[in-house]
Amino acid sequence: MNAIDNVPIQEVFVKNDNDIRLFIKREDLIHPFISGNKYRKLKYNLKEAKRIESKSLLTFGGAFSNHIAAVAFAGKQNGFKTIGIIRGEELAEKALLNPTLQFAKDNGMLFYFISRELYRNKTSIDFKDDLKNKFGDFYLIPEGGTNKLAVQGCEEILTKEDYQYNYICCCVGTGGTISGLINSSQSHQKILGFPALKGDFLSREILKFAKTNNWELISDYHFGGYAKINESLIAFINRFQSDHNILLDPIYTGKMLYGIVDKIQKNQFEKGSKILAIHSGGLQGIVGMNEKLKAKNLPLINM
Ligand SMILES: *Cc1c(COP(=O)(O)O)cnc(C)c1O
Repeated sequence: MNAIDNVPIQEVFVKNDNDIRLFIKREDLIHPFISGNKYRKLKYNLKEAKRIESKSLLTFGGAFSNHIAAVAFAGKQNGFKTIGIIRGEELAEKALLNPTLQFAKDNGMLFYFISRELYRNKTSIDFKDDLKNKFGDFYLIPEGGTNKLAVQGCEEILTKEDYQYNYICCCVGTGGTISGLINSSQSHQKILGFPALKGDFLSREILKFAKTNNWELISDYHFGGYAKINESLIAFINRFQSDHNILLDPIYTGKMLYGIVDKIQKNQFEKGSKILAIHSGGLQGIVGMNEKLKAKNLPLINM
């Protein structure tokens, strides 16, 4: 899929009295369209889909989903048809698709818009049978792309050079990324996950895949829930961009970095620690988020 091999690591300076140093692994640069962790999560799933000679990929997501955009592009590039089951049937009637769905459509994805209620039951056997009747055989990729093969891909994010860091920080949506990081970490390292949504089901998800217990979820920085943002988060993202020349997304990486910087300033890391934060991408969603912010007369994210 033409990804880069050596993902750059960039130090960002955060003022503190405890010799804490913060570094960012720029997984957002891994591929121009299959962003960050979505690239990692798709890698072995695409291999498997090819191996079993599947012709189409079917997956699920919301209207701004980075995963939907990634599957559409990766599917096209690898010769698969793609089908996106999208939450929210009202979207089908909108004449204009948002930028994420327009991108997916331009890459050949076929949409099936369903109600929020049906979406909640998307893993039921009945619904899967319906999908088979409608679309024929397909290779199913779960919402957010998380399964065993996705975790295997995320185990390749950390390399030997990263053993020098005391803390590895990442965003958490469905838990696949953090599981991969946990499995490839060293026992002297601690993995901190910053959930982008409320709810305590995430630990159970991670326990399905993670092989060691050197991890913790930091649940203080979800800003009210998935895709909820406020002016101080936007201000943080814009300041981070002008100070460090790194763009963050408002759903995941912005919240994580806000949390890390806050914890550094509150002295919650051991003195002299080196922290590696994984920039998992997600920048495609900013255009769509800015449209929403504009409609609400809120400040925009500078790009
Ligand atoms: C999807 C996504 C995540 C969440 O990853 P999970 O493996 O689902 O926990 C984190 N960051 C970004 C930018 C994402 O797009």
